[in-house]
This record gives sequence, structure tokens and C-alpha cells, in this order.
Amino acid sequence: MKIAVLPGDGIGTEIVAEAVRVLDALDLNFEMETALVGGAAYEAHGHPLPEATLKLAKEADAVLFGAVGDWKYDKLDRPLRPEQAILGLRKNLGLFANFRPAICYEQLTHASSLKPELVAGLDILIIRELTGDIYFGQPRGKRVATDGHFPGADEAFDTMRYSRPEIERIARVAFEAARKRNRRVTSVDKANVLETFQFWKDVVTEVHKDYPDIELEHMYVDNAAMQLVKKPKAFDVIVTGNMFGDILSDEASMLTGSIGMLPSASLNDSNQGLYEPSHGSAPDIAGKGVANPLATILSAAMMLRFSLNQEEAAQRIETAVKAVLAQGLRTPDIWSEGTTKVGTREMGDAVLKALA
Ligand code: NAD
Repeated sequence: MKIAVLPGDGIGTEIVAEAVRVLDALDLNFEMETALVGGAAYEAHGHPLPEATLKLAKEADAVLFGAVGDWKYDKLDRPLRPEQAILGLRKNLGLFANFRPAICYEQLTHASSLKPELVAGLDILIIRELTGDIYFGQPRGKRVATDGHFPGADEAFDTMRYSRPEIERIARVAFEAARKRNRRVTSVDKANVLETFQFWKDVVTEVHKDYPDIELEHMYVDNAAMQLVKKPKAFDVIVTGNMFGDILSDEASMLTGSIGMLPSASLNDSNQGLYEPSHGSAPDIAGKGVANPLATILSAAMMLRFSLNQEEAAQRIETAVKAVLAQGLRTPDIWSEGTTKVGTREMGDAVLKALA
């Protein structure tokens, strides 16, 4: 088993270092190789995703990714910006299924903006299709309108589209994932208005015939956005398209209080995956040793589960993280009165100790 380790920029290097220490401590037989990505790669090689980094990622069974980006790169041409590295990896590895769990740990319920009773014990999984939809649909661009409300005016347009195989494969991923959880899938669409999402709904319903043991419900995206803040625990697995998933997964992440706690995975059809925290490179706290490494450590646990087939090791890490929270240790982003404030390295140390 080979893991490509791509720490990236900002807090990326600090948090990935802790996840690597945790992986090392498991004493499993895998090889880890580190490479530059994002702004760090641009500085050294003039490109955010150098050939060598892409080659390493392609050859590896899994990629452990930190974060990329910094405001100082905002003036670069778009293809050279750090964030392009993520898009390049997604495209080249065919990572079409994005897993974003939203778990509210017992000890952190107060950090949520919702009432504790609404989020205590929350454990939902949002599965977002990652390579299609209006984000990638062609044609797109700017032109002069020839019809519509203002013929002759400048306008911009994008194209929302999904093909049958794209919907089928993400639906299967969702039903399979639900089998390992509470066997309920909510497919989120806008079938009442959009042709693309009426088709989405029809195809998901067809695929569901192969999964009679899974309960399927369909929900419009506006209602899903409401239900996520009204009764989030009613969900188990949510599956949706690229744009709705982008928005709903961020909404769901906030239910849990801290973005520093949330892992994510992006998988292709051979279970090769890219694992990263849901947050960015946090330039405001980079280098201060205060970033929360738990989202990255939990991403490493997801990597063991989904790409490396090491369920037991994944659970060991998750149990260790819960133990550390139960001990009252908190990085500043999740700190509250009565708990002990620790830095990135101390948090990593505590997880290692709990593992042992
Ligand atoms: P961000 O997620 O980096 O930070 C948002 C806020 O959350 C900041 O106040 C930050 O300090 C805090 N935060 C984030 N992670 C934390 C952690 N582990 N522990 C404690 N606090 C944490 O988002 P942003 O500020 O909008 O973006 C910063 C840079 O990151 C930008 O260049 C952006 O493009 C990039 N970005 C990268 C990714 C990625 O690599 N996948 C994702 C989002 C943003």
C-alpha cells in the first residue's frame, strides 16, 4: 500500500504532520511519500500540480492532502493558482464521489449554532457528485442575448447536465454507503423545476431497485436546506449533485460547530481516493501551531477505511479522537470554558497516547 502525502500550504503542513505521526504509530505496512502541491509547488516548480506530484498521486492507493491556497496567490493567472491543484487531482484521478460526514461529538454540542438537543449525536453523511453538473457543463460563457427578457444585453450562462452513467454510479455509491450505516438514503433534487434533476430522480429510483434493503426518499433542495437546520438527525445518507452538494455540505458542517473537526474523502470507481480536511489552508493562523489537526487525522481514518481496507485501524483512530475530546483537550477553535487549551502538536501527542 502506498500513500501520497501532499501537505500543501498554510496549516496544511502542520496538520498533515500530525496525521502522518498517527499513521506511523499504527505500525501497518504502508509506504508514505511526500510531495509539494499548491502554492508550495508553484514556488518551487512554477506549477501548483507538478508532473512528479501528479505521477505520485496516480501511482498511490490513496492521497492524504492538507490544504492549498493563500491570498498572496490571488493575482496569479487562474491555471497557476494553488486551488487548481485540487481540480487537477480530481480530474486526473476521476474522483467523482465526495464523502462529507457531519458528526457532532457529544463534548462539542455547545459549539454548534443549533440547540444542543438538535445536534447531540448527529451523524450524517453527505455524498456529493463531484465531476458533473453546472460546474462543468458546456457550453458556458458570456455573449449578447438574442432572446429572453433583455435581447441585445450582455449575459452570462452555464449549462446544467447529468448523464445516466454519472447518476447511476453516484447513486450506487450512496446505496452501498447506506448499507454500512442506517440504510436510509435521501436523494436531493429540484425535480419540480429542473429537467436535469427530474432525470436525476428517475435514474436514482431505477438504481434503487437493486437495493431493496435501503429506504429511499426524495427531497427538494430547498426543503433539504430547511430540514438540515430543523431536524438534522432525521437524515442518514444524503446524495446529491455537485452544486447542491457543495452548498448543503457546508451547511451541514456548521451544524457540528467546528470546521476543524470535519474530514472528507473523494473517491473514484476503484476506491482510490483523496482524503483531506473540509477546511482550507487558514493563512490567518498558519505557523502559529494552533490549528486543529483532528479533521486531518479523521481523514486519515477514512482513508484506512475506504481505500486501504483497514477498518479496524480506522476505528482505532476514531476511538482515540473521541477519548482525547473526553479528556477535555481542545485546540482554540473548539475551546470553551472548563476545557484545556492545547496546540496542534499537543493534540497530536494526545491522539498518539490514546492510540497506545
Ligand atoms: P479556511 O477554511 O482556510 O479558514 C476559515 C476559518 O476557519 C479561518 O478563520 C481559519 O483560521 C479557521 N480554520 C480553518 N481550519 C482550521 C483548523 N484546522 N483549526 C482551526 N481553525 C481553522 O477558509 P478561507 O479562509 O476561506 O480560505 C483560506 C485559503 O484556503 C484560501 O486561499 C482558499 O482558497 C483556500 N481553501 C483551500 C481549500 C482546500 O485546500 N481544499 C478549501 C477551502 C479554502
